[in-house]
Amino acid sequence: MRTGVIGLFNLFPVCPTMPSLRADYLDLDRLERSRRVGWIDIDAVIKARCLVIGAGALGNEVVKNLTLSGVNRVTIVDMDAVVISNLNRCVLFRAEDALGGRNKAEAISHRAKELNETVALEAVMGRVQDLPSERFKEQDLIFGCLDNVAARLHANSHSYFHRVPYIDGATMGTSGKVQVVIPPSTPCLQCAMNRTHYKLMEKRFSCTGADVTFFEPKMAAEITTTSVVAAVQVREGLKILSGRADKCVKNVWYYDGLANRSDVLEVDLDPECVVHSR
Ligand SMILES: [Zn+2]
Repeated sequence: MRTGVIGLFNLFPVCPTMPSLRADYLDLDRLERSRRVGWIDIDAVIKARCLVIGAGALGNEVVKNLTLSGVNRVTIVDMDAVVISNLNRCVLFRAEDALGGRNKAEAISHRAKELNETVALEAVMGRVQDLPSERFKEQDLIFGCLDNVAARLHANSHSYFHRVPYIDGATMGTSGKVQVVIPPSTPCLQCAMNRTHYKLMEKRFSCTGADVTFFEPKMAAEITTTSVVAAVQVREGLKILSGRADKCVKNVWYYDGLANRSDVLEVDLDPECVVHSR
């Protein structure tokens, strides 16, 4: 059997007496093409409130995807300023942001408005640890776009406590992963912690508990891996908002862009996990 465009026309032949559809009428609706995707509940997406923690490369892509998908309320949190070396993978930053030392969350919220003027974007210029717990509670979805384990665990525990789904993304060179946490039924980030994660966390903090910046060679980072990981994060979020959490990744999705491989790894719920014991 032949497939493709010709095959489709054979299945749905054009009736010579049927008046032609007014394409321009459909084109007036920004989300008309999204409404055609059967599993997406676009009304639920429009009403959703999303918190994006981290306004680096992943945060840029996640906010872009949310904004274009129709989410109308997005809060972005980050304490850092844009620098020139961000510009190879951050779609919403410009050179003038780096030259002016603009806060990353503020720059994203400004530029994402250009993608969809109806979206209410809020920039929180600070650490996620300083965000009041109530700000987690009021969300429908929380996206982790962070570069350190401690901030991830903070976001994970607050999301879990308030029963708000948390979708964590991470990249390293051409590899990446996404973990979907839907409390209280699924394991959380803490459940998936291993010795390497704890070592990384210890390295970032001094013996006094103060955040210490160590000089390390900068990690390879490029836009293609970031785009893939952020796309999966937002797609999983759209499933949750659309009542299709049953189709979400269980529990961690791994991606290796160099080997062209991806895989899904289930995580056991850790009975010793401090998040669950609360
Ligand atoms: Zn846990």
